Amino acid sequence: MTTHADSRTGSATTGAPPPASAPPADGRLVYDLSEGNAGMRSLLGGKGAGVAEMRRIGVPVPDGFTVTTAACVAAMRGGGTWPDGLWDEIQAHLDALERRTGRVLGAAERPLLVSVRSGAVFSMPGMMDTILNLGISEQSAAGLAAESGDPRFAWDSYRRFVQMYGEVVEGVPGQAFEDELTALKDRRGVRQDTDLTVDDLRELTATFRRVARESTGHDLPTEPREQLRRAVDAVFASWDSPRAQVYRRLNDIPDDLGTAVNVMQMVFGNKGGTSATGVCFTRNPATGTKERYGEFLLDAQGEDVVAGIRTPRRLPELETVLPEAYARLMSAMDRLERHYGDMQDIEFTVEDGTLYLLQVRTGKRTAAAALKVARDLVAEGLIDKEEALRRIDPAQLDQLLHPALDPDHTATPLTHGLNASPGAAVGRLVFDADTAAEQGAAGQAVVLVRWETTPDDIHGVAAAQGVLTAHGGMTSHAAVVARGMGKPCVAGAGDLRIDADARTLTIGGTVLTDADTVTLDGTTGAVYPGALPLVPPRVTDDFSTVLGWADDVRRLGVRANADTGADAVRARELGAEGVGLCRTEHMFMATDRLPVVRRMILADTAASRQAALDELLPVQQADFEEIFTAMTGLPVAVRLIDPPLHEFLPDVVEQSLLVQRLEAGVEAGVDDGAGELEPARALLSRITSMAEANPMLGTRGVRLTLLHPEIGVMQTRAIVRAALAVRARGLDPRVEIMVPLVGYAEELRRMREIVVATADEELAAAGVTDLAYRVGTMIELPRAALTAGEIAEHADFFSFGTNDLTQTTIGVSRDDAEGSFLAAYLEEGIVPADPFASLDADGVGELVRTGVERGLRTRPDLETGVCGEHGGDPASITLLDRIGVDYVSCSPYRVPVARLAAARARLDDAARDDA
Ligand code: PEP
Ligand code: MG
Repeated sequence: MTTHADSRTGSATTGAPPPASAPPADGRLVYDLSEGNAGMRSLLGGKGAGVAEMRRIGVPVPDGFTVTTAACVAAMRGGGTWPDGLWDEIQAHLDALERRTGRVLGAAERPLLVSVRSGAVFSMPGMMDTILNLGISEQSAAGLAAESGDPRFAWDSYRRFVQMYGEVVEGVPGQAFEDELTALKDRRGVRQDTDLTVDDLRELTATFRRVARESTGHDLPTEPREQLRRAVDAVFASWDSPRAQVYRRLNDIPDDLGTAVNVMQMVFGNKGGTSATGVCFTRNPATGTKERYGEFLLDAQGEDVVAGIRTPRRLPELETVLPEAYARLMSAMDRLERHYGDMQDIEFTVEDGTLYLLQVRTGKRTAAAALKVARDLVAEGLIDKEEALRRIDPAQLDQLLHPALDPDHTATPLTHGLNASPGAAVGRLVFDADTAAEQGAAGQAVVLVRWETTPDDIHGVAAAQGVLTAHGGMTSHAAVVARGMGKPCVAGAGDLRIDADARTLTIGGTVLTDADTVTLDGTTGAVYPGALPLVPPRVTDDFSTVLGWADDVRRLGVRANADTGADAVRARELGAEGVGLCRTEHMFMATDRLPVVRRMILADTAASRQAALDELLPVQQADFEEIFTAMTGLPVAVRLIDPPLHEFLPDVVEQSLLVQRLEAGVEAGVDDGAGELEPARALLSRITSMAEANPMLGTRGVRLTLLHPEIGVMQTRAIVRAALAVRARGLDPRVEIMVPLVGYAEELRRMREIVVATADEELAAAGVTDLAYRVGTMIELPRAALTAGEIAEHADFFSFGTNDLTQTTIGVSRDDAEGSFLAAYLEEGIVPADPFASLDADGVGELVRTGVERGLRTRPDLETGVCGEHGGDPASITLLDRIGVDYVSCSPYRVPVARLAAARARLDDAARDDA
């Protein structure tokens, strides 16, 4: 199954596809690794399928088995009760593993120890739980010490198990263990865990068991199979942990998939100086550069590397310390990248010099890296261009279009950390994830600063502009999550002294608090005090190349919604093929123009109104000239004024207060009110008389212009004069005049008459006969979609305003949608997605389809487009491509997203037709 989630995270397992065997329909709930392959991802989870596939192609992995996602789903449905036979099946597979390894789980001599690791269908890094060293106990630790001749390793493994099991299965707060570990290191005067002696570790294990007992009121179970049963159950339960739920919501991963559980023989990275554990990528996930990229820690286990507890060493250093394992790893990396035809993210362990791979998955990457990797893989002949396009998540391109630090700045950094996720972030310091989530939701720009981030911080990372940590490397959780979300991140900035309780950050002699703003440069790793200037992003070579491929594939045109010359220039740079919506009223809102607009609205005589309009005309004309210039040779759809006029007037409450203040001043004799009170009262009475209970359903759009045709006349003149002026400079303006909020064909017929008469008058006055212009309408009301056949008689084109069409079809106020019941509806699953962000296919989508069909029946050459927010939303673009509109129009920065989404819509469609 490929879903939206896969494409969003860019983690689809694609490329040279491994044999895709559908899950056997034999009802089994557990599979040995030797029975799996990459095609069984939905049953075995990404990790289970990936490890099985590695085993299949001869990459060294530990032995084990996988409890399926189906088992987890059945347990969830049973309210935590396992499906019949599951435990027997697990035990049978454990028996077989014991036979194959010649070891017994938890035995006093040569014990088998296992890892119990979660692994969902879509990778959810760090969101669910893992337990290592299961099977270890007082007696088996002794056996392990004897067998390995390394009691330090045995006791280190035991204390880790108590910690993980206590935390994951018994719910003991992790901090309680960390506090004891820190206290012991302080007492011994050592910095690293690895500096503790065997006796220290024995003592620590006993302390951890005490901590667990005090927290839970009982001893941890010692029967190893019982431990295994409970560990599997805890991993099932971790699917529904709050952080996993947040992650799924952020990544559109369905809640009902469940996680698989992988039970594998332990291999140990903590067996001293010839053992290690690490994470590597076959290419650089931040930049996409083809280089071996990764980190490792000697004498360490499991999450040590990603948790950022010790700052790890860079992968190339492994060659010097463990050359043989390094060579094997390099060849496995190459092999896996070729096998999957994509950049891979790999976890490995070296036990006593022997390499094992524990996990392989498609590497999460920044948008810049996604483009570079795709381009390079095509150049290397590993994939074709279409496959490259399928690999890039359109929504992710947004990242590339965020501002970066102005390269000309002269600020001195406070400190440097690792450049873990690129881009610039400016925000006030926040010291915990909850506050970041709260303030971010309130629209404040914050930078989350943490000693290290854990998966529990995910909601804070999501709401922050960027993340800064004192500990952890490029593969630390903070870095991985930030890259996935496109958030700038500076990790492992070792100079930071963070006091989260006091909410202070000390760097050298500088103390910052939560009142201070910082700027992070995730591209270089620098941290600056204050808010530094940002500059618009640059279009790179990779970007142009890959989007060029998208242009070759897509059918849909892509225009931009642009109201200014600057927006139009930007949009064209980003590949817009015209302007699909120029909202002219935005030109009225500028502070220097508003007084004139108000005079126009409040005029009591036709002459004074005309005077104000005459003043506005050249101003509008100048704006249109800039846009026509930027878009020379490409169509520009200018929309006549749309919003209700009172939007340009002061708020009624504010005006009432002003009148009251002035009246009070007059009464108190402070102010004679001359010249002020009367106009204020007049304005108040005018505002009151114009007020409507539902202005969005009131006098706006074509209704307004039909009541005040002089406004439409002025706008038409400004548009045509601008086009003439631009043409006189040798450019090629392509004029489209668009009438908003039409519900009746008769409205458009009349409005068209006004527009055409005015435009022709202007052209005749200029003596120009060959400047073509087109007049069309927006389709924003259900009635317009349904009567599109009649409306098309007066329209050269339709542009579906799906913002209003959604509002009027569903009957939800678009302005209140975010804060309204919709949030609860989304949370409860009553509606599948926010209809203002992603087109409601069954309702609004059907109206668009109807409008297109009926319009084309009347006028086969009718051009159709969509200029609501949906025009930049990949899922909506897929639908609109199928409906058959000619183009979408979206904000300039969404243009690349739309270009790629339109290409992918074609590719998906072709794949559907082939299937
Ligand atoms: C729309 O309604 O979709 C539209 C583009 O117009 P506006 O958002 O300006 O109402
Ligand atoms: Mg509208």
